[in-house]
Parts: sequence; structure tokens; C-alpha cells
Amino acid sequence: MTAYEPVIGLEVHAELQTRSKMFCGCAVVEAAAAPPNSAVCEICTGLPGTLPVINEAAVAYAVRAALALHCRIQPSSVFARKNYFYPDLPKGYQISQYEQPLAVDGWLDVPGAKRVRIRRVHLEEDTGKLIHRDGASWVDYNRSGVPLVEIVSEPDLDSLEAAKAFALELRTVLRYLEVTSGDMEKGAIRFEANVSLRPRGSQELGTRTEIKNLNSFRAMVRAVAFELERQERVLTSGGKVVQETVGWDEARNVTLSQRGKEEAHDYRYFPEPDLPPLVLDPTWVAAQRDALPELPEAKRTRFALAYGLSADLAALLTAERSTADYFEAAVTAAPAVPPSKIAHWLAGDLFGLLHAEGIEVGESRVRPDALAELVALVEGQFVSPATGKALLQRIWREGGRPARFVEGEHLGQLADPAAIDRLVDEALRQHAPQVEQYLAGKKPVAQWLFGQVMRAAGGRAKPSVVQARLAERLAALEKSRTAG
Ligand code: ADP
Ligand code: MG
Ligand code: ZN
Repeated sequence: MTAYEPVIGLEVHAELQTRSKMFCGCAVVEAAAAPPNSAVCEICTGLPGTLPVINEAAVAYAVRAALALHCRIQPSSVFARKNYFYPDLPKGYQISQYEQPLAVDGWLDVPGAKRVRIRRVHLEEDTGKLIHRDGASWVDYNRSGVPLVEIVSEPDLDSLEAAKAFALELRTVLRYLEVTSGDMEKGAIRFEANVSLRPRGSQELGTRTEIKNLNSFRAMVRAVAFELERQERVLTSGGKVVQETVGWDEARNVTLSQRGKEEAHDYRYFPEPDLPPLVLDPTWVAAQRDALPELPEAKRTRFALAYGLSADLAALLTAERSTADYFEAAVTAAPAVPPSKIAHWLAGDLFGLLHAEGIEVGESRVRPDALAELVALVEGQFVSPATGKALLQRIWREGGRPARFVEGEHLGQLADPAAIDRLVDEALRQHAPQVEQYLAGKKPVAQWLFGQVMRAAGGRAKPSVVQARLAERLAALEKSRTAG
């Protein structure tokens, strides 16, 4: 542990998955899915004489995000122009909310870390995208005007791990709300990180730097780690951290100074004259609140309690709403099977197959009722766990119900005592020397003999019956030996 403790505050931008853009009717498209500049109009390319119109769906999405983060929704908020020049910003300003944001004063509980206060949640529009290629710079305005929600935390994150956990939990919440794709590697969620150090135990905030250009989760984590180390070197060598904005250079893995405090940018915000204040009807806000789904935290807690799952397993199964829904469909399909058994098959074998193929649970051929049936077959000891795994492979490839394959191919587990007795007797005859060792007092040989019977049965004999019959036979032999 070092003498300094990190203080981190995150500004998070998430692209809203609405059908149309923030202030015009253009479609919101994925970069890879549409040719450059094919989803643009005079409004989102900033031609003179055009007027923006607020997208109600975007407002609803941002309000949902703010409500999920326990924020106070402001009855009236104001769009403002943030003026600056950049080729990806054709109007010369970005419409954002500044002094009167959509919502304020919320919080998010982060698993494994403490509660993080949310300072504000507001709406704004995205910029276009510059592409530097073939010795030229290109601009694609498809992203220009895409709605963004910006979420600003208080400086409550006290480690890199807490920052990571906060970002992940926030993403999970936004995905649960279905307001963003949350695809962090495609830039659907982007970050600015404010980082400072202070003497451990101190209540005062240290001087911070603000890291821009964090276009992925990975970049955020690496940049914050870099900046924490850099500041620590400055402080331990007796220097002072300079308050400045730094940029993350993805290729070189370093932060580079962009501008100091002296040249602090002045965006000359002023209220957008072409838009009225955004006044929200309390009944409409209440309806948004009522429509919120069960959120990750609540679902995790419920899963752990209702299904008897460990905290880790509950977290794994609720990371995506689709996985949680799948699990609950399987549980419903097999009421007699302990849910924890279904959870283990899902999080173990089925997740393994999903990860190997890089697909989501809803895309696999294994339907929830088929998984439930499979677990029921294994738990009822109709098939051995090994056969269960083979059956899973089979329904993974072909779909359908596992019971069908069991009947079709005699994969059912051998549980008939008479048949098992024959296998046990055969094994004892074949391995007479080992039986002698057992009778002479080498008790662990019984386990070896058990293995031989299971092998002779091709792994399909019911283990509990084999154990019982073998123990009985060995006891009988022992008894006749002492009697004789
Ligand atoms: P600005 O608007 O200039 O970016 P703010 O004061 O609004 O500055 O803060 C923006 C972000 O910086 C917030 O997420 C806040 O939590 C964080 N922050 C503020 N002070 C510090 C500090 N000393 N160390 C780390 N983060 C900080
Ligand atoms: Mg900032
Ligand atoms: Zn447009």
C-alpha cells in the first residue's frame, strides 16, 4: 500500500438506441451497417435555416436512466449550445444541457465497492466521426446528432477496481433498461476520467487531471492505471500534479498533455434559441418510473435468495437480462429440479459452449426447457453426469429434447439391481487377487473395485446402486471368511 489514495470521478457518455436522431428524423445506424454520410440531413449536418426538434424517445430513455440511478428529475431543463470548432461538428456547436440538466443527485451501488453518488444526468447530441486513412482525413456525419446521455459521477471511486466495477455496473443497468447497446468496444459507451491522488486518510481532494478520448472500457482502465502511476511518481519525487486535460494515446499507451488550466476552454455556453425549455409532465415521469424493469442489483439479490445461489453465481446469471430470463424459463420448466443444479449446468457446461462459439444464450439451439430436461435426467439418475454432458453436446449441435436421444439410443442409466449384481459378481471373479487384498484389510481396494464395475458398465450403471451391491457382496465374503 502506498502513501496515496486514488480519487476518481467518471463522466460517461452512452449512445441511446433510439430509432431516430436527437433533433432530426435521420435513422441511428451502426457504423459498419451503413455507407458513410448515408443517414444525414440538413439538420444534423448543420445547414443554415434549419430547426431542431426534440426526440421524445431519447428523452424517455434518458429519464429512465436517471430514474434507475435514483436521480431527481428536474421539472424543467434547458438545452444549450456548447461552442467550439472541429471538423466533426458541422454546426460549430454541440447541443447539450449545461446549467439546467435533465436530472441531478442520484447514486449507484457498485457490487464489491461502495455507493457512488451521481452528480447529474443530461442529454446531448453526438458529433460526426473523423477517419484518418490513405493519407487523408474523412468525415462521416452518420453519427452526428445521435442522442447521448451523459452521466457524471461524484469523485467517489477510490481505486481502479472501483472505477472498473462502477463502469461495468452502469453498463449493466443501461443494458437492462434497453436504452443503449452498451457495446463498449464499438464506442457505444465512452468515458472521460478525472483522476487525482491524496495522502491516504486525507479528506481534501488532490489536484486532478482529466483524461479525454477514452473510447472503450479497455482504454479507460489502462489510461486511469497509467495516470495513477504517473501522478504517484510526480508526488513521491516531491513534485506537484498540474491540473490539466490529457489525451489517451491508444497506440502508445500513454497520456499526453492537451491543455493546461491557463488555457482552460471556454465553450461560451448559451441557451439554445431554437429549442424551448424541456418541461416534463410529472404523470409522464411517473409512468416512466412504473415501466422500469427489475434492475440488476434487485435481480442478483432475488436470485441468490429465491434460488439458493452463491453471490458469484447470482451475479453471473444476471449479468445479462437474456441470461436471467433463460435461467428462469428453465427453472419453470423443471419444478422438481433444484434451481441451483440448473444454474450450475448453465453457468458451467452451457456457458463453456457459448463462449467457445462467441454467441449469446438466446442464439443457441439449446432451449431452456431442453436444458431443464437434461438436468432432470441427470438429477433423477436416469443418465450419468458423463452421459448428460454428451447429451448436452448433442442438443447443442442438433437442438431438440434430450429425452428423445436417451430413448433412441439406450443411453439410460442401468439401475436394475439384478443386472448390477451380475456385473459385480463378474468383477469380483475377474479380480480375485484384489478381493484377497481387501479381505486381508486393504479397505481402499473397494473403491478400485467399484471403478472396475463402473467401467464394465460403460459408465452407465447407477453409481449408488453399484456402491450398495458391491458393499453387500464384500460384507458377505468377509462374513463367510471369519465364519470359516
Ligand atoms: P468539469 O466540468 O470541468 O469537467 P467538474 O467539477 O464538473 O469539472 O467535475 C467533473 C468530474 O470530475 C466529476 O466526475 C467529478 O466527480 C470529478 N472530479 C472533480 N474533482 C476531482 C478530483 N479532485 N479528483 C478526481 N475527480 C474529480
Ligand atoms: Mg469534464
Ligand atoms: Zn439528420
